[in-house]
Amino acid sequence: MGDQEVISFSQGIRMMFYVMKPNETSFQSIEEVPDYVKKATPFFISLLLLEFLVSWIHQGKPASRVDDALTSLSAGVLSRLPSLFFRSFEISSYIYIWENFRLFGLPWDSPWTWYLTFLGVDFGYYWFHRMAHEVNIMWAGHQTHHSSEDYNLSTALRQSVIQIYTSWIFYCPLACFIPPSVFAVHLQFNLLYQFWIHTELIDHLGPLELILNTPSHHRVHHGRNRYCIDKNYGGTLIIWDRIFGTFEAEKEKVLYGLTHPINTFEPFKVQFHHLVDIWTTFWITPGFTDKFSVLFKGPGWGPGKPRLGLPEEIPEVTGKEVPFSAAASGSLQLYTIIHFVIMLGFYEETFSGKATLTQITLLLRICYIILTITSIGFLIEKRPRAAIMETARCSIFLMLYRFGFLKPFFPALTAALEIVFSICVSFWGARTVLEFRRSS
Ligand SMILES: [Zn+2]
Ligand SMILES: [Zn+2]
Repeated sequence: MGDQEVISFSQGIRMMFYVMKPNETSFQSIEEVPDYVKKATPFFISLLLLEFLVSWIHQGKPASRVDDALTSLSAGVLSRLPSLFFRSFEISSYIYIWENFRLFGLPWDSPWTWYLTFLGVDFGYYWFHRMAHEVNIMWAGHQTHHSSEDYNLSTALRQSVIQIYTSWIFYCPLACFIPPSVFAVHLQFNLLYQFWIHTELIDHLGPLELILNTPSHHRVHHGRNRYCIDKNYGGTLIIWDRIFGTFEAEKEKVLYGLTHPINTFEPFKVQFHHLVDIWTTFWITPGFTDKFSVLFKGPGWGPGKPRLGLPEEIPEVTGKEVPFSAAASGSLQLYTIIHFVIMLGFYEETFSGKATLTQITLLLRICYIILTITSIGFLIEKRPRAAIMETARCSIFLMLYRFGFLKPFFPALTAALEIVFSICVSFWGARTVLEFRRSS
């Protein structure tokens, strides 16, 4: 997709709420379509900070916890890494169908096509999202998004790496008549719209609640109270839930997260733990029919149970639930925030310069990014191996930095970063030796 298109500040704000006009977002070819999601990064960060400030002023406490928010942002970072190498699977499969199987092509520059695609993408999203909750193998990807026990703007960025390998199926019918360039625009806006609804700061929005997906409706979707399960799948519009009988209004206080919380901040467990569970269950389940059901019936299914499992097996909310936290100290939290921000600097730089970077540089930078989010997960979870992993990570950073694989994003910081990371290596190295001595 094209990066040349400049987005004005007003367009940037409007695109976060899907308030865009057809004539400013219609393109003839897929190559001209801007990477709106990438261009949204400064708006993601500004709105995250705004939510943080507003909740601090209004409620006397931040809307998010550092450990949970960093885990969500790490999932967001991880889910975007494949796009450094490939065009998104949702787009490439769509183009393939358009080029080989289309029945007819609607004009790319007609407002009618634009509005029809808006509806079509949202309808496709509803069914993808519903199946992502009702089909176990699809839930393996989507559960990542639901694994936060908090509900704030950072939760929106807790995205799955593998979800796009099933979601593409639901957009195939559109590829029979809607040009890829129009589809690619709406797919991005549909995703961006869902950012602002992940907040507890916005209460009810009056008549808008009738047609739009709102923070209130989506809070229900993220709830693990029995009345919230398998409800409100809509992306931008809530009308699909009202039509197909999956709508539920917000009632008693919502408790967020998975019905069986995973209690971890490790980015790879957050992404893949359910896939591993399915793999194990698949092999220990006897008989072909039941094996098939493990994959394609609901996550709550078991032999002898209905397709979507038994509602009474969902743990009742007592109000005494405590969200998982390893209670990392304030200084350790600050440390992880600083290193996350440094990583984000290199992450941004890698995305903007990807066309000029060699494959080996790209791969080494991805190693640094993955190592950073893994190590931060270990640190905030206070795991026994955290010190040795952080020593290794900071040493690897210094090597990549010295050999020029990681370029400083602000030249003025060149020496400072080297000093900071050298101190980190010494500090965590000493901790590792101490812990080793204590345990032996
Ligand atoms: Zn969901
Ligand atoms: Zn959500």
